[in-house]
Amino acid sequence: MERVLNFAAGPAAIPLEVLESIEKNVCNYNGEGLSVMEMSHRSKTYEKIINETRDNLKKILNLNDDMDILFLQGGASSQFAMVPLNLANVGDLTYYAVTGNFANKAWEEAKKWTNAIDITNSKADKYKYIPEIDNSNIDKSAKYLHITANNTIFGTMYDKLPELNIPLVADVSSNILGKDYDYNKLALAYAGAQKNLGPAGLTVVVINKKYIREDVANTVPTMFRYDIHSKNGSMYNTPPTFAIYVAGEMFKWVIKEGGVKAIEKRNIEKANMLYDILDNSSFYKPFAEKNSRSIMNVTFNLPTEELEAKFIAEAKENGMINLKGHRVLGGIRASIYNAMTVEGVKKLAEFMITFEKENK
Ligand SMILES: *Cc1c(COP(=O)(O)O)cnc(C)c1O
Repeated sequence: MERVLNFAAGPAAIPLEVLESIEKNVCNYNGEGLSVMEMSHRSKTYEKIINETRDNLKKILNLNDDMDILFLQGGASSQFAMVPLNLANVGDLTYYAVTGNFANKAWEEAKKWTNAIDITNSKADKYKYIPEIDNSNIDKSAKYLHITANNTIFGTMYDKLPELNIPLVADVSSNILGKDYDYNKLALAYAGAQKNLGPAGLTVVVINKKYIREDVANTVPTMFRYDIHSKNGSMYNTPPTFAIYVAGEMFKWVIKEGGVKAIEKRNIEKANMLYDILDNSSFYKPFAEKNSRSIMNVTFNLPTEELEAKFIAEAKENGMINLKGHRVLGGIRASIYNAMTVEGVKKLAEFMITFEKENK
């Protein structure tokens, strides 16, 4: 079987051994005579799957008992709305660190419900860096401050979570389980699954129970209330059963690989392989500023758009796909999430060196 090296930003690569374990069970899960896809979400077997998946994520993220995990749908984009709807009332003050396109979308959504202020905003600098957040600018009456932990399109990342005197909410869609943060310090974190957790269709929310409110405005739709999902163990309605099962297989893989710390170390090694080439070249130009660089998405340019197109085409001929940058930024983007191997990145690095020699 010939598999390509997939550098897509999402849906992204899944480890082959995870796919193989699913393949083995796809028609007949554990000898039960049916697929997980066909199984009642209320069945004993499925209950075991979802509980084990939740427990393993709790273990991987070192969550204490104050934290709850919700398995939802609607993507990270639905969380742009659910966060303000649940954590604030109409007109409340909220803060957004606007460090990229998704951060900007989250801010725009929050403005519909709250008095959402962009406490930092790097748009004028094309989102090349993560601006510092100055605590002295924060009004403590604000309900929360929202950050995008990893800016998937621009290739920037918070190396450390900001220390704030108000609750912190983080969109961790593109670096959950790839970068080690203390999730217990967060009021809430959310992620669409399709980057580091498996297939699209599942959205994971990690929330401190203190912020699960039952007194949200009665205009908030039932499906958009964290308390409803929490009370029902993410089974208020039919959850994305198969996607949760696949995420569970991903979590087992993360544990087998040594956990988030070990994987982060490997991710740093992978990213540095590419950044070293970018920093030692007059041909390639890294996009993100050094101290804001992502270890998940590496963004760069070549001298001309023609060369970028040639780079993408030749990489594809060599079995490396999805290296085209996001349409709002252009250039090249290599997304090297957990499932991308060191060998895979090495192959890209070697290709980059050869390509520079041949096209300089
Ligand atoms: C991909 C992405 C999103 C959008 O996720 P959907 O699941 O498609 O809604 C939001 N935020 C970040 C940081 C992302 O990388």
